[in-house]
Amino acid sequence: MYYKSTRDSSVNVSSAQAIAQGISVDGGLFVPSEIPSITMEDIKKLGGMDYRERAVFVFSKFLTDYSEDEITYCVEGAYNTKSFDSDNIAELAHLFDGTYMLELWHGPTCAFKDMALQILPYLLTTATKKINLEKKVVILVATSGDTGKAALEGFKDVEGTSILVFYPDNGVSAMQKKQMTTQEGSNVGVCAIKGNFDDAQNGVKAIFTNDEIKQQLDKNGFMFSSANSINWGRLSPQIVYYVSCYAQLLADGQIDEGEKINIVVPTGNFGNILAAYYAKHMGVPVNKLICASNANNVLTDFLTTGVYDRNRQFHATISPSMDILISSNLERLLYLLCGENDAQIREWFGALAQTGRYEVTESVKKALFDEFYAGCCDDEQTKATIKEYYDKFSYTCDTHTAVAVKVYEDYVKATGDTTKTVIASTASPYKFSGSVLSAIGKGTDMDEFDLVDELAQCSKLPVPDSLAALKTKSVRFDKVIDKSEMKDFVFETLGI
Ligand SMILES: *Cc1c(COP(=O)(O)O)cnc(C)c1O
Repeated sequence: MYYKSTRDSSVNVSSAQAIAQGISVDGGLFVPSEIPSITMEDIKKLGGMDYRERAVFVFSKFLTDYSEDEITYCVEGAYNTKSFDSDNIAELAHLFDGTYMLELWHGPTCAFKDMALQILPYLLTTATKKINLEKKVVILVATSGDTGKAALEGFKDVEGTSILVFYPDNGVSAMQKKQMTTQEGSNVGVCAIKGNFDDAQNGVKAIFTNDEIKQQLDKNGFMFSSANSINWGRLSPQIVYYVSCYAQLLADGQIDEGEKINIVVPTGNFGNILAAYYAKHMGVPVNKLICASNANNVLTDFLTTGVYDRNRQFHATISPSMDILISSNLERLLYLLCGENDAQIREWFGALAQTGRYEVTESVKKALFDEFYAGCCDDEQTKATIKEYYDKFSYTCDTHTAVAVKVYEDYVKATGDTTKTVIASTASPYKFSGSVLSAIGKGTDMDEFDLVDELAQCSKLPVPDSLAALKTKSVRFDKVIDKSEMKDFVFETLGI
C-alpha cells in the first residue's frame, strides 16, 4: 500500500511521508492506493477487544510502513484515561430502539476532533523519525474554535514540535476563547486576529506558501506541517471509531452478523463522513450514509443535484464548526468515484477555485445518490430538536449533533427506512451551553461558567473536568494582532 495524490495519480509515497507532508506538492490530497478489506470474522474478533486493540488493527491496514510496535506506541499514547473520561474512548449510547449515539466527545477538549488530534502528534513524530527528517515540525492552525484547542492539547509539550494557533477575535465562543488563551505547554502559541475566520485562514495559507518564509524556517531547522483535516493522519483515526462501533453493536447483540446500519454525520469539511465511507468500503455493512448540514447547505444541494456551488450567502449559525462553504475532503470522495481520474479532479477543483462551481458527471451523480442521503436544517429546527430530545428521552445533545438528529428524523419520514442507525455525536453540550440552554427554554444572561453550572442542573450530565478547571486558570495569551503581523508572531514565537 502506498499513497497517491488526488491531483496526480503518479505520486507514490509512504503513509509516513503523506502524514509528515500533509498535502501533496500538486495541491492534491493523499489517498491510499487501495481500500483494505476486513471480513465479518475480523469484525467478530474486534468485538472482544478494547478500543486501543481495535485501533491497532485498523491502523495496521492503512499505515503499512509503520511497524506494529510503532502503531501500538501511538495508539497507547493517545487513547487512555489520562486524556479521555471513559476507557471506551468512544461511547455508544442507546437512545431508543435501534438508534444509537456514537459519542465522540469524551476527550480532553470535549469535541470529536480529539479522536484524531490526540493521535496525530504521535503519528507525525513517528513519521518524521522514520523518514529521517531532522527538522522541528511547526504546526500552524487557523481555527473557528474546536480544531485549535484540540490541536493545542494534542501537540502540547510533544518533543520536536511547535504549535501556533490563530483565531478570529470575535469569531469564537467565550468557552472556546477561554480554552485557548489559558493553554498550557512550553511549545504553544495562541494569538487572536482582528478579522473573521477567513482572514485567519488566508493569513495561515499565505505563510505556508511563502517561499522566503519557508527558506528562513529551513535555515533555522524548522519545517511546516498541517493539523488540518486534509492530513491523512487526521482522517485515518476517524475510520477506527466506525469499525469499532459496528464491532461493539454486534458484540452487544444489538445487531445480527452482516446486518446493515445507517450512519448519520453532522458535516462541515466532509472529513468525518468520509471516514464512515472508508469504513463501509473496508467491509463494515452500511446501508445509507446520511450527511447533515446546517443553514450552510452547500453539501445538501451537491448530494441531491451533483452541482457544487459555493456562490451563496454564508450563515453564522449556532453550530459554528459546520459553518463551511468549501468542504475540502470531498475531493477524496470524488477522486474515488470518478475512477481515480486525476485530470477530472484538476478540472473540477480548478473550476471551484475560479468560479466557485462545478458539476460532476452522470455516473458520479448516480454513485453519490446511491451512497448518500443529504439534508439540512436551520437554527430554529436545531433548537426545537434539542428540546424534543431533552423532553422525550432526557438526552441533552449539543447543537451540531442536533442537526444530525433532525436530518435523520426527516430521512425516516421521507423513506420509512427502519434500518438500525448510528448518529455521530460530535460535541459535548457543555461546549455550547448557552445555545443548548436557550433551546430548552432557560435564561442565558450569565457568564460561561454559570452557564455550565445551569446546564449541569438541567442535564444531570457530569461537567467535564477539563472545562470546570478552566475557571481558575490564568490567561497566558492575550495578544490581538492585525492580519499583516501574523508572520512576525510566528518568527517571534519560534525565536527566529
Ligand atoms: C469539526 C466539527 C464538525 C464537522 O466535521 P467535519 O469532519 O469537518 O465534517 C461537526 N461537529 C463538531 C462539533 C465539530 O467540531
